[in-house]
Amino acid sequence: MANKWGMAVDIDRCTGCQACVIACMSENNIPINLDEHFNNRRAISWIRVDRYWEGEYPHVKARFLPLLCQHCGNAPCEPVCPVYATFHNDQGLNVQVYNRCVGTRYCANNCPFHARFFNYRRPVWPETYNNYLNEDVTVRDRGVMEKCSFCVQRINRATREAKRTGDEEFINTLQPACAQACPTDALVFGNLNNPNSQVSTLFHDDREYTLQESLGTEPNIRYLKKVDKEAAPEPVHA
Ligand code: SF4
Repeated sequence: MANKWGMAVDIDRCTGCQACVIACMSENNIPINLDEHFNNRRAISWIRVDRYWEGEYPHVKARFLPLLCQHCGNAPCEPVCPVYATFHNDQGLNVQVYNRCVGTRYCANNCPFHARFFNYRRPVWPETYNNYLNEDVTVRDRGVMEKCSFCVQRINRATREAKRTGDEEFINTLQPACAQACPTDALVFGNLNNPNSQVSTLFHDDREYTLQESLGTEPNIRYLKKVDKEAAPEPVHA
């Protein structure tokens, strides 16, 4: 059976440190965002940590929600692409084909999670950074849509390595950059077709929920609710 990749995001563990964001940018050659790009809403970040405030001052609490492409099983971005530049592969990934993209941006407009980014500019890095770019990842040029790939380059490398060594278990150690960098293990990645994987177990956790569930996009990313001890009901004693 083919692997089906998915991720569980535990909101209760996320501290909002943004290590996942930096790791993703470094792994996937994301262009450097300057103030002007943020101000023009043209900054690119495959994973972001949305921040919410809950409660009223002085009892305010910060809540963090790491958000990336949800790799939806019923993805709204796919049917609107006129050139099939985004499609679903046999491993549950929502794939983006850069050299097929003609830049209509229909997919980004149809994504309810705002997880897709358009290259309005040709990326430029300081010369000293050139040797730091990841050679396994294409540098996207102006006019191309991009988004989280679940670090597909790592998936492909691990798949090849597992095949070469005959060690099928090796693939279960695979992690995308964000999950690898997270200091609190809030991001758990794995094979949903393996019932014994940690991510499969978390998908059946009592705290599990789906973002924008009413839209029926069937994401391959599930979230685990925050546990707020102060808001928890008093235990009932018999
Ligand atoms: S690295 Fe982990 S704890 Fe830090 S913001 Fe990302 S998900 Fe949250």
